[in-house]
Amino acid sequence: MKTAIYPGSFDPVHNGHLDVIARASKLWDRVIVAVALNHEKEGFFTMEERVDLIEKASCHLEGVQVTAFEGLLVDYVKEVEANAVLRGLRAVSDFEYEFQMALMNRSLDETLETVFLMPSQESIYLSSRIVKEVAAFGGDIDRFVPLVVKQAMAQKLKR
Ligand code: ADP
Repeated sequence: MKTAIYPGSFDPVHNGHLDVIARASKLWDRVIVAVALNHEKEGFFTMEERVDLIEKASCHLEGVQVTAFEGLLVDYVKEVEANAVLRGLRAVSDFEYEFQMALMNRSLDETLETVFLMPSQESIYLSSRIVKEVAAFGGDIDRFVPLVVKQAMAQKLKR
């Protein structure tokens, strides 16, 4: 069984992420969306909330599992016996960081392959940060996130 891991912060998951997950679910038997735990940065959503939102937003896609992970990605990849790390590439600006990460991961484990997928044109400009900014100023985020995420964001912003 071929497994890909799609790591990220997903705070929150948006249509760009979901586009990548949908493409990957056609290419791999199992796609593990892995929410990376970051002790240094307090997020908008908690880890549990992020996992829950991704699960709800991707439940129609075959072979997708969602989990949280901590520590080195290369160790987690071995633990779940994945054969690829999946990343999304939006623009040239993503490339430098992604290139560095992919080569660093390869130097930690030379068998590890990183695969990049491009999203559809409509979601190429999306990022979690921009979605949060638009929502915080009362903008309409309907086209950028699934309904569950929109509702959860509205709930949080009310508090
Ligand atoms: P962000 O907070 O920038 O949305 P994450 O850390 O959650 O990003 O991203 C996880 C992965 O998803 C990264 O590989 C990132 O490049 C990718 N990604 C983020 N937004 C998009 C998008 N709109 N289209 C395709 N890939 C994306």
